[in-house]
Amino acid sequence: MELTDNKEKQKSLDLTEDSREMEWTYTSFVGELFNGQFRWDLINPFPVQRDDDKRIGDEFLEKLKASLIEHIDPDDVDKTGVIPEKAKNALAHLGCFGMKIPKKYGGLELSQINYNRAIALIGSHCASTAVFLSAHQSIGVPQPLKLFGTDEQKEKYLPRLAKGETSAFALTEVDVGSDPAQMKTTATPTDDGNHYIINGSKLWCTNGPIADILIVMTKTPPKIVNGKEKQQITAFIVEANTPGFEVEHRCKFMGLNGIDNGLLNFKDVKVPKENIIDKPGRGLKIALVTLNTGRLTIPAASSACNKLCLYWSRKWSQQRTQWGTTIGEHQAVAEMIANMAADTFATESVTWLASALADKGNADIRLEAAIAKYFCTEVSWKIVDDALQIRAGRGYETYDSLKKRGELPLPIERMMRDTRINRIIEGTSEIMRLFIAREAMDKHFQLLMPMLDPKIPLSAKISSLLKILAHYSIWYPKQWVRLPVEYKSRSLSKTNKKHLKFIGKTTKKLARGLFHAMGRYQQKLEKEQLIMFRFVEIGTDLFAMAASLSYAESLLGDCNGRDASQDLADLFCINARTRIKQAFYSINHSNGKSINNLSNRVLSNECEWLEDGVIKTID
Ligand SMILES: Cc1cc2nc3c(=O)[nH]c(=O)nc-3n(C[C@H](O)[C@H](O)[C@H](O)COP(=O)(O)OP(=O)(O)OC[C@H]3O[C@@H](n4cnc5c(N)ncnc54)[C@H](O)[C@@H]3O)c2cc1C
Repeated sequence: MELTDNKEKQKSLDLTEDSREMEWTYTSFVGELFNGQFRWDLINPFPVQRDDDKRIGDEFLEKLKASLIEHIDPDDVDKTGVIPEKAKNALAHLGCFGMKIPKKYGGLELSQINYNRAIALIGSHCASTAVFLSAHQSIGVPQPLKLFGTDEQKEKYLPRLAKGETSAFALTEVDVGSDPAQMKTTATPTDDGNHYIINGSKLWCTNGPIADILIVMTKTPPKIVNGKEKQQITAFIVEANTPGFEVEHRCKFMGLNGIDNGLLNFKDVKVPKENIIDKPGRGLKIALVTLNTGRLTIPAASSACNKLCLYWSRKWSQQRTQWGTTIGEHQAVAEMIANMAADTFATESVTWLASALADKGNADIRLEAAIAKYFCTEVSWKIVDDALQIRAGRGYETYDSLKKRGELPLPIERMMRDTRINRIIEGTSEIMRLFIAREAMDKHFQLLMPMLDPKIPLSAKISSLLKILAHYSIWYPKQWVRLPVEYKSRSLSKTNKKHLKFIGKTTKKLARGLFHAMGRYQQKLEKEQLIMFRFVEIGTDLFAMAASLSYAESLLGDCNGRDASQDLADLFCINARTRIKQAFYSINHSNGKSINNLSNRVLSNECEWLEDGVIKTID
């Protein structure tokens, strides 16, 4: 059994590895960070949105806001589970179905920043509507077609999608969540090779039940490469009116009640070979690359949620009096408010930095986008929880109930239900950290892999060894050098300049630590997830600190009272430094063994007695 499990695991790892983007065409700020280089120059001055682009966004957002308020009652969407057709038509009329689609195909061709601003605005009003539109164009048909489609495919589908037809992305299956290699849905070529026949089921497909066009990930016949069978995952464009496609079940969740999400069946669904996106076998790569920028809408929506929480918490803390003073005066509440503001500032900085880098085009943002998704969704969950705590009983009460008894109806309860999914979709927080760890170590892997590969001949290994020695004899001592470095900053406060120095110093410590861990655990490092996660968390905090400091500097002198940005960045950095210290401590005093030991005992039912005294509804 274990042998089979290991084989399956290796298959999954091989497929994921094959589907990675191998090259780093452009320098990545975060990639450099994990490699011991704090490249402040890559993110400072903060890449603020160009005036002309901002004007386009402002004009669009104004119309969008009016339309959302006029056509969508978010509480009604939550209660009825329906986004009204009238609202969808109004959004389509505004161009919301083609925000990222090029103008020549009828879209608005918004920049990534403006698109994210739009999704953030929509999400702040109605999360279901934001997810509906984001699933349609961040991961649905438009984005992969834009990146990988042929001219014919773009001409055929993009105008329809820009006008208001809906698309969906179908990858997940009952047995396939985070691990696509286990996919069961097949696409078999017909004898003449002109068509493929799709059979299988797809689970939790957002927009699936109402989609006109879907991207469906399938398994096509394996290829033999160097005498070894290689799995092929292939992406198809499927029209929902093709015979054999059916919606078996509409799924309901704890939140996002307005989305149409379902279990879809494909029974002998015949699609022409022209509907393959890119080439057979490129499906997983398409999914991964699409998600690199596609997943940026999630941090944008999370940042918007944080802003609302901050607003509600501030208002309530000013109004509510207990024990003779407004609750914001009590230090325990003040701490939540201050941290919420600092964290909101950090998520805003990270989101807009990653989006601006995506727009610049000459940056590799796979790490930045993954960190933005992981960081912003984790922080957001904490912020919603604190906002609920500040509103206390009223935070737990539903919007409707508050309204009916004449109290200020703030939908924190709904926001909590709607937000929770963000730590799961488009890569769970655990998978995001594994992805970040893999990409962060890529430079080392590229050098060291040939030494570990048994198939590589001795002569090649010797040449690899020479390369390794040449590289590390310079790189490694550099990670210990502590020359005073001045990071250019026009006007950061003294404390914030100290935080900059801390980032520079800690970046090297991070790179050294990662290198030592690779040496210590070697191939077993893959199993030491806790160690890898702590490194990723350190890198994440360093990135968020740097983004916050750069953003704070860009806001200085802004007359909207934004000079507080120095304090916001400062508090975020103080908290981040505490977390970083703890993470290094955990790496050096790993409790992985105790955790493995105890979880083994729990999973072999040795602690079943601990579950006594409760009504168990499942065996
Ligand atoms: C509301 C909603 C909308 C969705 N929309 C879509 C959509 O439009 N299209 C689509 O294809 N899918 C969609 N999904 C599916 C979603 O992407 C998956 O839920 C997600 O990928 C996780 O898969 P899973 O739930 O099967 O969890 P699993 O993969 O079974 O994971 C279970 C747990 O194990 C952890 N885990 C798994 N593997 C590892 C590992 N190697 N190391 C450490 N931890 C691990 C996970 O992090 C998680 O905590 C949607 C889901 C929901 C609920």
